[in-house]
Amino acid sequence: MIPMVDLKTQYANLKSEIDNNILTALGNAQFILGPNVKEFELESAKYLGVKHAISCASGTDALHLALVAAGIGEGDEVITTSFTFIATAEAICYVGATPIFVDVLPDSFNIDPGCIQAAITAKTKAIIPVHIFGQPANMDAIMKIANDNNLKVIEDCAQSFGADIDGKMTGGIGLAGCHSFFPSKNLGCYGDGGMVTTNDNDIADKLLTLRNHGSNVRYHHDIIGYNSRLDELQAVILRSKLKNIASYNENRRRVGLLYSELLKEYVQPPIEDGIGTHVYHQYTILTGKRDVIMEALSKKDIASAVYYPIPLHQQNVFKDDCANVTLPVTDKIVSQCMSLPVYPELSNEQVKSIVTVIGKCF
Ligand SMILES: *Cc1c(COP(=O)(O)O)cnc(C)c1O
Repeated sequence: MIPMVDLKTQYANLKSEIDNNILTALGNAQFILGPNVKEFELESAKYLGVKHAISCASGTDALHLALVAAGIGEGDEVITTSFTFIATAEAICYVGATPIFVDVLPDSFNIDPGCIQAAITAKTKAIIPVHIFGQPANMDAIMKIANDNNLKVIEDCAQSFGADIDGKMTGGIGLAGCHSFFPSKNLGCYGDGGMVTTNDNDIADKLLTLRNHGSNVRYHHDIIGYNSRLDELQAVILRSKLKNIASYNENRRRVGLLYSELLKEYVQPPIEDGIGTHVYHQYTILTGKRDVIMEALSKKDIASAVYYPIPLHQQNVFKDDCANVTLPVTDKIVSQCMSLPVYPELSNEQVKSIVTVIGKCF
């Protein structure tokens, strides 16, 4: 049995440290915005090379709060991709703005800068590039378009914690970067959690207030805020895992690069386009034999999945508004994409055994 992710083994490797620190935190009983949350924010900011890291309750909330802090609202348009998890677009809708879905690049599956340029209108206020599957989007091109058109860039880093472009971590390039600590993410906790990173002092101040009922001083409320804080116990877990994130990501790359070497004669492996370091949150291939391969893997008790089977512009919730949207590259990708197990603890022998099963489909 090979799962998509193996959270049990990762926990077993950290068990004594996590268990001890959880017990200490329980004893301290500072459950809301406690010491572990503060330390985790400082440690994350240092690791990611950003001025501020403000934790919150989920990656979805990180996107929502970042959009509010950036002043995006009613009547505004935000350009993003259709080939992503629904939360990217949900957050745009939460603030009353409209997601404008544009096409992606056929190699990296990331937002196509040329399509961004073509989608800009007088209402466009922001761009949300998603570093999909852990591969950084073309931030040089995106930041140039944003600067030329006075747009704000909010990076969706839910799948890219620790991925860098020329030494600059994703989440520290745009105005804000939004991270998710959902259990299966590269840096995952044991429940929900999220964080916004930024180098902008004003945005950081707003986020601190927004996540805590619009309040900086207890029982003094300046704006309507939210209850969106990272849990102290989740922060304990994240601090242990953050110490290992570089090794986790290196091992994901070990798995990804071995797959690509062995699979390239059968399918189109994920193409690293030279923009930054892919951290393989997902290992996603393109193939015309998706159903055959998935069935063969399933028979051998090997998990696989389709991320994403339906692009956002074709989801029930958006399809009427997107009747005129045509995204040929996205459509082709969703008809052929499938993801294979990838996690730091996956051994080279396991990768080879998975490839052997796939090879027999050809
Ligand atoms: C997981 C994910 C989110 C949402 O994060 P949650 O912590 O689950 O709320 C947002 N965007 C992308 C691209 C994701 O993969």
